Amino acid sequence: MKSIRHWSVRHARSMELFYSSFCKLMPLHRPGIGLLGRKRAERCLASLEQTAKGTIFDCQMCGQCVLSSTGMACPMNCAKQLRNGPCGGVTADGNCEVNQDMPCVWLEAFDGSKRMAGGGAIARIQPPVDFSKRGSSTWLGLIVGETAEPEKAAPAAISLPVREPAPFERICRSGRFIVTAEISPPDSVNPKDLLRRAGVLRGLVDAVNVTDNAGANCHMSSLAASALLAADGFVPVFQSACRDRNRIAMQADIMGAAALGVHNVLCITGDGVGSGDHPQAKPVFDLDSISSLEIVRGMRDQGAYASGRRLISQPDLFLGATANPFAPNIEARIVNLEKKIAAGAQFIQTQFCFDLELFEKFMAEVRAHGLDHHCHLLVGIGPLPSVRTARWLNGNVPGVRIPEKVIHRLEQSQDPKREGIKICIETIQFLREITGVAGVHLMGHKNEPVLAEIIIESGVLYGNGTNNELLRCGNEMAA
Ligand code: SF4
Repeated sequence: MKSIRHWSVRHARSMELFYSSFCKLMPLHRPGIGLLGRKRAERCLASLEQTAKGTIFDCQMCGQCVLSSTGMACPMNCAKQLRNGPCGGVTADGNCEVNQDMPCVWLEAFDGSKRMAGGGAIARIQPPVDFSKRGSSTWLGLIVGETAEPEKAAPAAISLPVREPAPFERICRSGRFIVTAEISPPDSVNPKDLLRRAGVLRGLVDAVNVTDNAGANCHMSSLAASALLAADGFVPVFQSACRDRNRIAMQADIMGAAALGVHNVLCITGDGVGSGDHPQAKPVFDLDSISSLEIVRGMRDQGAYASGRRLISQPDLFLGATANPFAPNIEARIVNLEKKIAAGAQFIQTQFCFDLELFEKFMAEVRAHGLDHHCHLLVGIGPLPSVRTARWLNGNVPGVRIPEKVIHRLEQSQDPKREGIKICIETIQFLREITGVAGVHLMGHKNEPVLAEIIIESGVLYGNGTNNELLRCGNEMAA
């Protein structure tokens, strides 16, 4: 099946021509549906469709076929079933982060779409799968003249209060260089264990981004940790991963977050469960990051759930998403970023940036597409403590790319830990000069004191006009 599937992508143009003629002929069969009756026709057609499309495209019969918009590659073969891919974990050789012996379905989709006359459709945002249609025939819809995706009725107009930008949004809009840092919630129910670690960053960052079971490893929930941080005066960013929530749980958490004073949300797809400490778990992936962004934006701007049901009061949110400039390929990365912005992302946080040459190429494309004017782009950075860690990250963390020359610098140093900090500080200073970069996002698992040290030493706070008292406090806390 897989080899025929790859053949179909390579011959996407012929498949497109064949499929468009096929679609034109479908309505001719309408009288037959009348004779058979809809239910019986559905059964017959679904079985025929499964055999034909299953053989040619390895079709998974989602019931809402999008093959003509995805380069003739069925997105339901993506290990995370993304309707809007690729994810950030594509390996350097273009394979899937989850099934590493399989080419990334979404890179195939981009390849196929380049061969098609209507290949530009890959840039369209695909809505989430309607799982109630799974196994049903798309052909029946073509015959009777129903589109796979019925037009969603726009919720009735209501007057929503004018939204005041939340603090982090205001800072991003101010145009000054932004500094955020990541914190991973503890494996403890004592809030002090979280607040003590976050305290090191107080006054040094514009927001604290709270990871959501990062790497598919279980910790205190991002929502609970974000609420604890908000109550303690921090500006938290709540990460919401599609891996662990279906659309019902996701929306419930958004409502809860806003009620608890958490107004920044980062919608992410999440790593596959196989990379974490519960590889036996069932991955959810009901949504992808783009469809979850659209739903959350609808809750905020239209005051309604994805179902269309009205909220009594809507959440006040600043929305973010991730980008990976370092995973193949740049065209897919830019289209993906465009889609995320179109779906509602206002700020973007990237994967770790070590490859500055590749990042500059990515930014040239970002600027060429004018995307830097539509989002606040924060570049992910972090200190490398040793050559061993650098090599481990390169080999084990999907989408991280550390050039040999960076590893060589660590190898040559008498004090690799200090060298890693130096590299990180130099990277911040380099990034500050790149047009379109709004700020940096520091990452380092349970390494907050070192992150604080980097922020202070980089001088980024002086450039921001931060007062000396704040710097003194930061220094004391980092010491
Ligand atoms: S790398 Fe990501 S987008 Fe590509 S097939 Fe795997 S899970 Fe899907």
